[in-house]
This record gives sequence, C-alpha cells and structure tokens, in this order.
Amino acid sequence: MPKIAVLPGDGIGPEIVAEAVKVLKTIEEISGVHFEIDEYLVGGVAIDETGNPLPAETLEACLESDAVLLGAVGGPKWDDLPGNLRPEKALLGLRKELQLFSNLRPVKTYDSLISASTLKPEVIQGVDLLVIRELTGGIYFGEKSTEITENGIKVTDSLTYTEKEIERIVRLGFETAMKRRKKLTSVDKANVLESSRVWRKVVEKVAADYPEVELSHMLVDNCAMQLVRYPKQFDVIVTENMFGDILSDEAAMLTGSIGMLPSASIGTEKVAMYEPIHGSAPDIAGQGLANPLATILSVAMMLKYSFNLNQESEQIEQAVQKVLDAGYRTKDLATTESKIVSTKEMGELVIQAM
Ligand code: ATP
Ligand code: MG
Repeated sequence: MPKIAVLPGDGIGPEIVAEAVKVLKTIEEISGVHFEIDEYLVGGVAIDETGNPLPAETLEACLESDAVLLGAVGGPKWDDLPGNLRPEKALLGLRKELQLFSNLRPVKTYDSLISASTLKPEVIQGVDLLVIRELTGGIYFGEKSTEITENGIKVTDSLTYTEKEIERIVRLGFETAMKRRKKLTSVDKANVLESSRVWRKVVEKVAADYPEVELSHMLVDNCAMQLVRYPKQFDVIVTENMFGDILSDEAAMLTGSIGMLPSASIGTEKVAMYEPIHGSAPDIAGQGLANPLATILSVAMMLKYSFNLNQESEQIEQAVQKVLDAGYRTKDLATTESKIVSTKEMGELVIQAM
C-alpha cells in the first residue's frame, strides 16, 4: 500500500492539512485505491515536544514513504531560537535528506478569480504554466569567500553546476512537458554565463530523446518580461536555482492569491514532497480563515506525480474550479459578491463537488 507521511506543522498548517487529508480520503472512497496515511511532528510543534524541528522519527517516516504532505512551519513563538533550532531548519533538512533537487510550481488562473486580480484580464485569462526550479545547486550552494582588499571587502558567491545536476533537472522538464502540452522553455543567461552555456548544451543533448517536445531557449531577463507581457505562451519552464526562485514568485502573482498555489518537490529517491507555497500565516491561525485550496491542490499534484492517478487528480482540480465558479470564497479571495466560507466549509464544498 502506498505510504503518505503527513506533516501538518505550525500556524494554519494543521487546519489546511486536515481539509486536504479529507479530500485524500474521499479519493480513496471514490477510486478504491488505498493509502497508508500517518501524521508526524515537524517545525515548531516538534521543537516544543522533542526539542528538534525535524525529529528522527519524522525523517525516517518520510524516507520510507512514497509521498510527504507538508502544511507549513514557523511562527513568532520560535523566532528567537538560534538558527539551527528554528522551525524552518526542518524544511532545509527535508530537502537535503530526501534529495529533492527540483521544485515544481504550477500557475493556473481560474476564470472566476480574474476580477480579483490587479492584472489585466486579457493577460492572465487562460494562463496554465508550470515553473520547474533546480533546488539543490547553483549560486545558493556554491563556494563563498570574503577578503579584505585595498578597495574594501571583496566578496564572492560562486555558481557551480555539474552536467549531471543539469541533466536530471532538464530531463524532468522534458518528462513533465510530455505530460502536459509538450512545450518546454529552457531559461538561462547563455550570453553571459559559462554555466548557462553548458546548461544549453545539456538541454540540446537531452532534447534528442524527446522529439515530440517543442523546445525553446529564453534568456532570463526576457523571460521575466514575457511572464507579465504574454504568459499564455508558456507551458513548462525549466531553469536553474536562482532564476527559478525569482521567476516562480513572479509567475505566482499571475493568479492573485498565495492561498491558491500548490507545489511539488521531486528528487532522486522515490519520495516526493507536496506543500502549499504559502507559509504558516500565524496572523490568521486557528480562526478558520485560511484558504485550504493550495494544500488541496497539492494533494492533486501528489496523485498525478507520485501515484499516476491522473483522473483522480483532475477530479480534485475540477471540484475546486466548480466551487469557485459557484462563488464560494475564503476571506483572502473575497469580493463583495462572494459567499464567504470558513476553512472547513471550503474543504466540505470541494468534497461535495467531487
Ligand atoms: P514564510 O516565511 O513561512 O513563507 P511568510 O511570512 O512569507 O511565511 P505567509 O505565512 O505565507 O508569509 O503569509 C503571508 C500573508 O498571506 C499573511 O498575511 C497570511 O495571512 C496570508 N496567507 C498565507 N497563506 C494563506 C492562506 N492559505 N489563506 C489565507 N491567507 C493566507
Ligand atoms: Mg515567504
């Protein structure tokens, strides 16, 4: 039986994860597939109970699972702890231990939410793209040095990639494009960076294995512009760590609310991790105000990417769309015409629509 480790975490984490787990159980009822679902401590609650943001029991359970569903970690209660004891340390620990080298962030606009956006309807209507960001290499992990010179401090951050690291993320880009509209945009800065020139070569080499995929290369500065000029041109974007960090946040804004966006982190091992892109939102925790849709949509991603349950995944996405079309909104999405519902009510509505 496929195993899912559920890590609710802190702040709104437990509330939104509870709704997502209900959706998962509904999928079990509808499809007849069964999962072993167990909850473990992570983040601040884990610090309170065990003194460690990522207890050994949690890590072991994750390593033995097929998928991890994470809520969010952190909050003001733990802000004064030293760095290696902070709740956020658990996230880095999980990425490293599970070898999650990629982060996938789909960005899809819902027609019924377009009026709530600050962007022009004709630009964002029908956007359905996915940014794949390399997560464990590049300048964030390169060698750093600081020295004192006659011109003051001289500081260096180095950007390093091996062909192997590039190839595995690029291959994931092509594989993912094959499951979507078969269009891949590889983003780099090959007119300036040596690493980007090798990146491009690797992309060209891997492309030979995917003749059905329509490939294009785009420079990162142009991509940043194209994302707000004409985002509908994109299907899958694949890029290195820092470019992906920036572009995925930019792309996220196309949909309007942080409470709508799921993500997946996929690695070299079988286990993948799914979580909403937002944080623990301590300002609204425990009040039934949190939007559970990002976490519910993360479950949809899990079904598709970890378990190949494409139909069930779409069933969740369609249910979300139906509920939004019917005018129901949590407070973060509300306009004057919306029917405002709580976290729990939103979860129930999605389940009914399924
Ligand atoms: P982190 O550092 O963990 O990313 P953050 O401080 O950047 O956290 P979030 O916790 O994501 O930010 O919260 C940012 C704002 O968005 C807050 O005002 C929060 O209430 C709101 N928010 C985040 N997630 C949701 C959600 N699911 N539903 C409603 N509002 C949310
Ligand atoms: Mg944040």
